[in-house]
Amino acid sequence: QALLYIVATPIGNLADMVPRAIEVLQCADLVAAEDTRHSQRLFSHFNIDTPLMAYHDHSDDKRTGQILHRLEQGQTVALISDAGTPLISDPGYRLVREARERGVRVVPIPGACAFVAALSAAGLPSDRFSFEGFLPAKSGPRERALQELASDSRTLVFYEAPHRVADTLQAMAEIFGAEREAVIAREVSKAFETFQLMPLGELVNWVRSDSNQQRGEIVLLVRGAERRHDSELDGEAQRVMTLLLAELP
Ligand code: SAM
Repeated sequence: QALLYIVATPIGNLADMVPRAIEVLQCADLVAAEDTRHSQRLFSHFNIDTPLMAYHDHSDDKRTGQILHRLEQGQTVALISDAGTPLISDPGYRLVREARERGVRVVPIPGACAFVAALSAAGLPSDRFSFEGFLPAKSGPRERALQELASDSRTLVFYEAPHRVADTLQAMAEIFGAEREAVIAREVSKAFETFQLMPLGELVNWVRSDSNQQRGEIVLLVRGAERRHDSELDGEAQRVMTLLLAELP
């Protein structure tokens, strides 16, 4: 039966590669990779010589078609991204979707994922969270996206580019409030791994005052908004009701 493996790879520390991932990549007929040159380094480290083919979500239909054709011929294909779990702010959705529609069995090989690792060690509530991926790059849409999240009570998790992290924290402090706790998780699993938990107002200054904190790979996590208690909601509902009643004839 046709088999498409979705294989997680390390997010920085090659020792995090799971044995099953090595085995699957060695045995597959073809590995679809976001950046074949980047993946070549992983391959030589683990002595994998399976042919690589470039695949990203903007790949034309021809490329997706080629991979689907190989699967339909009964070949085993593995999908990897540059780092971490494919499809998590990375390409692959279209391929998985179309493979499933054609009856291909899609099998995940679990492994590293930057936001899961960051959340697990950040010290913010992890029972409920919202993974937001990358915020829009332009300030207008970015601020609107943050405004929409301002009253969310779940822990918010973002990926952010190093050159934008200070401005993003600044916008978060303005929109969520300077007192709201946040964590910057940087270079997770690598030599300069750093976790810093502070109120947003202080975290902006901490990041701005040390250019090293504006380098490398970054996950931002923000504590959710305080939940309003039922009694407060009742009070608010009562206030609205009083106002509305006053308007009735
Ligand atoms: N698919 C990947 C995963 O499973 O985490 C994420 C890919 S996304 C294109 C890359 C972003 O993930 C980086 O810009 C950064 O925000 C985050 N990231 C990746 N590796 C990281 C690391 N070692 N430490 C902190 N953040 C990381």
